Amino acid sequence: MRILITGAAGFLGSHLCDRFLADGHTVVGMDNLITGSPDNIAHLFGRGDFDFIEHDVTNFIYVEGQLDGILHFASPASPIDYLEHPIPTLKVGSLGTHKVLGLAKAKGARVLLASTSEVYGDPQVHPQPESYWGHVNPVGPRGVYDEAKRFAEAITMAYHRFHGVETRIVRIFNTYGPRMRPADGRVVSNFIVQALRGDPISIYGDGSQTRSFTYVDDLVEGIFQLFFSDRVDPTNLGNPHEFTVRELAKLVLQLTGSDSQLTPHPLPKDDPKVRQPDITAARAALNWEPRVELREGLERTIPYFRRLVEADGAVARTLSE
Ligand code: UDP
Repeated sequence: MRILITGAAGFLGSHLCDRFLADGHTVVGMDNLITGSPDNIAHLFGRGDFDFIEHDVTNFIYVEGQLDGILHFASPASPIDYLEHPIPTLKVGSLGTHKVLGLAKAKGARVLLASTSEVYGDPQVHPQPESYWGHVNPVGPRGVYDEAKRFAEAITMAYHRFHGVETRIVRIFNTYGPRMRPADGRVVSNFIVQALRGDPISIYGDGSQTRSFTYVDDLVEGIFQLFFSDRVDPTNLGNPHEFTVRELAKLVLQLTGSDSQLTPHPLPKDDPKVRQPDITAARAALNWEPRVELREGLERTIPYFRRLVEADGAVARTLSE
């Protein structure tokens, strides 16, 4: 198949390029490089089965020739990024998804939309099954991401129902691993980089809020299987093992051997208090479940950040800065 991956230079997009190429497909990567980095796909340049187009998908997308699939992964995804780029975030989820679906309709391609656990907002149902409609503040600072992705899901289903486009929707829960930016601003990258540098560990609020962390290889495998499945309904992919932010910090300190101190920061507005995927649907439809537990995933991720910290003095980025 010939596959277009938007957001190809990002954390997940670049791993998906590798996964589809490894399976013998041809990949066209697209990115406007707002939050993505060419470093993530530098190893693919020069290959005959990979092309890269620098383009903002909120504008008309032109891809020459046959296209069988599109994975729409373009979007700022770290809270700190979408607070910094609120309008591009709204545009890529809305206008960008519209362009992707229009291209899919013209080419007869299947679309897989990267959606998010953020569609559940600060959830009042726990864990979150796909049938839960969520608890989102549309006018809060996170609304730019949450509502863009909710709109993206709605227009994807409309193109499926009205135009018969083949669609898939993955709701991605917190994912970490190599190729995250050191200054991404998300909790796993921040804590690892802070611990490696001996900087204070930035705990937002009292650190009792929870997240469920998925190692990137598990997520990518689930997305790959979902793309080739016939499941149209949104599908949660994530690791149901839930940790408090404070537990994560302590594990990172232990695995890095760091003596950094935990330091309180203000809790960001609308920060979800709990998050855990119900993956009953993915288990049944895809026979998928995560294999890499947090300790092992962190052990695989820490050396990547250590190289960056040692090579160029990479630093974390916190919301209050
Ligand atoms: N968090 C934290 N310190 C940081 C970054 C994040 O305590 O330096 C907390 C944040 O308040 C949230 C959780 O970690 O409760 C996960 O935040 P992240 O930005 O990774 O993603 P989110 O799940 O909020 O989209």
